Amino acid sequence: MSLMFDPETAIYPFPVKPVPLSVDETQFYREKIKRLLKARNAVLVAHYYTDPEIQALAEETGGCISDSLEMARFGAHHSASTLLVAGVRFMGETAKILSPEKTILMPTLDAECSLDLGCPEEAFSAFCDAHPDRTVVVYANTSAAVKARADWVVTSSIAVELIEHLDSLGEKIIWAPDRHLGNYVQKQTGADVLCWQGACIVHDEFKTQALTRMKALWPDAAVLVHPESPQAVVDLADAVGSTSQLIAAAKTLPHQQLIVATDRGIFYKMQQACPEKTLLEAPTAGEGATCRSCAHCPWMAMNGLKAIAEALEHGGAAHEIHVDAALREGALRPLNRMLDFAATLRLSTKGNA
Ligand code: SF4
Repeated sequence: MSLMFDPETAIYPFPVKPVPLSVDETQFYREKIKRLLKARNAVLVAHYYTDPEIQALAEETGGCISDSLEMARFGAHHSASTLLVAGVRFMGETAKILSPEKTILMPTLDAECSLDLGCPEEAFSAFCDAHPDRTVVVYANTSAAVKARADWVVTSSIAVELIEHLDSLGEKIIWAPDRHLGNYVQKQTGADVLCWQGACIVHDEFKTQALTRMKALWPDAAVLVHPESPQAVVDLADAVGSTSQLIAAAKTLPHQQLIVATDRGIFYKMQQACPEKTLLEAPTAGEGATCRSCAHCPWMAMNGLKAIAEALEHGGAAHEIHVDAALREGALRPLNRMLDFAATLRLSTKGNA
């Protein structure tokens, strides 16, 4: 029996997008959410890939817009008793693992992630058992159960540094679930990395040939690529990095036009970082039925304003995240290792500055 998950043949339960709101409805829910956040002592923690109106609201209400590592840190240190996490389910679970005393609400508990879905705990555990000499490193985009099976959790913003560190200790590594990021990290570090074969449906669809044609049309543009994209796309990049790193690169690169190969939700913060530059979406597999994401994660798109208001107003089984106590304990250890490692990196960066 193959223990590998096959992302090519996987069938995902694709969600229904929220019905678009009118201008008046948008205004109504924005005001309602602001009132409810105060009334519930809650704060809005949003991912870069959520829709712009959610990111704007997080900004206006003192919440946070960031990558999953910073979302986890922000939620754990904030004084609010309730975190409204706009993102996908593993982000809500991570918040609960780090802040068990807080109420964690999400607009919908059906917002999945193909990386998480593509790494079921039982099969992954058997894979690890078959390679007992390897240190298990899992990406944050996994269930609490998979995290509990790991030695380390990691996000794309510190993946290269962590694998470099483990390699320097002579450790051989199991990497899961994203095969492209795993291959990228292996190439950057030269470490002995055995990859689980998961993939992000958004980044997996960026296409090399179409990108090459686009570069010919915009010869002065720089190409920014998230390392969850296929290697051939990464090879065309002027900058490769996590969401936060791509926003920083957009600002510092001298190019006036930027072709961006990651979820287009990032354009909200990226355009703020460099308002004078032109941002262009990198081409995906196609349109309509031939494209599974078209550069916007279908699960991130489930985070509508109406659902946020409902979560804050009613909470309950449809919105509140719970994590089994034993699983939480198991997942907390590798998560804390990641946060401690990230803190060490920040200190050493400051020391070098
Ligand atoms: S963009 Fe990809 S990695 Fe991010 S939540 Fe969606 S499916 Fe998962």
